[in-house]
Amino acid sequence: MKIISDIQELRDHLRGQNRASFVPTMGNLHEGHLSLMRLARQHGDPVVASIFVNRLQFGPNEDFDSYPRTMQADIDKLEKEGVYILFAPTERDLYPQPQEYRVDPPQQLGDILEGEFRPGFFKGVCTVVLKLFSCVQPKVAVFGKKDYQQLMIIRQMAKQFALPVEIIPGETIRAEDGLALSSRNGYLSTEERQEAPELQKILQEVRQRVIELKERNIKTLADIEQKAVAQLTGRGWQPDYIAIRQQSNLAPSTKESLEADEPLVILTAAKLGKTRLIDNLEI
Ligand code: AMP
Repeated sequence: MKIISDIQELRDHLRGQNRASFVPTMGNLHEGHLSLMRLARQHGDPVVASIFVNRLQFGPNEDFDSYPRTMQADIDKLEKEGVYILFAPTERDLYPQPQEYRVDPPQQLGDILEGEFRPGFFKGVCTVVLKLFSCVQPKVAVFGKKDYQQLMIIRQMAKQFALPVEIIPGETIRAEDGLALSSRNGYLSTEERQEAPELQKILQEVRQRVIELKERNIKTLADIEQKAVAQLTGRGWQPDYIAIRQQSNLAPSTKESLEADEPLVILTAAKLGKTRLIDNLEI
């Protein structure tokens, strides 16, 4: 595997390749990330991975400085997956000048759910992803459904800018007890780690309640959301949201969308102690 930090050197190595597949990450790699590398390999060649902890998408009180950086272990894992190039730019490589041009996703997608609780998050994500796409120029790029809203926003960005890249979703990989793998799981204490799978369990209960509803309407869905929030709070979590949304646009259901039986997804973010976890479940 070639490890490259310089944009020009990356371009030199990829010259003439028009089938590359790309998996951007922030490192501290786990099975979830590696499953995306395998998916990428099915859709293009060579596979390019990136590791870059993107300051632009972190809020002032978030964990940019403490975000786990485990480069050597990550390199070993990527070597085993047959990744051809690891692009691991420094901040100076990727942002040699202050990044003043930014990609601002539309409010109705970028300022809801995660965007409401992490202002500017998706602006930072879209900006770095567009820049990484411009560096790698992949034919396909793989993103995890674990970050459901991010996947949707990147898809829309690619579509609206007519980027010549196909966005491929990867399923969420979980620990045996159901907890979605995440670099931030490492922040959990032993007791918190035992409690953490409850987040997915509650989403499964919400799904069951929605499936069994006698009448699906805006009020009955809101009742289910509220009950789930109370359940989490009662267990000592601090939920930011549990929201039952339309899969197609992440908007709340309307009378019309319910009548049309539009597919739904439940999304959640909640803090357990100091650690903020996110998860989702399609219905
Ligand atoms: P991150 O390093 O957290 O920025 O994630 C890089 C990519 O891995 C994103 O597309 C995530 O959605 C994806 N990812 C993170 N956790 C998982 C998981 N448990 N299963 C599948 N994909 C994941």
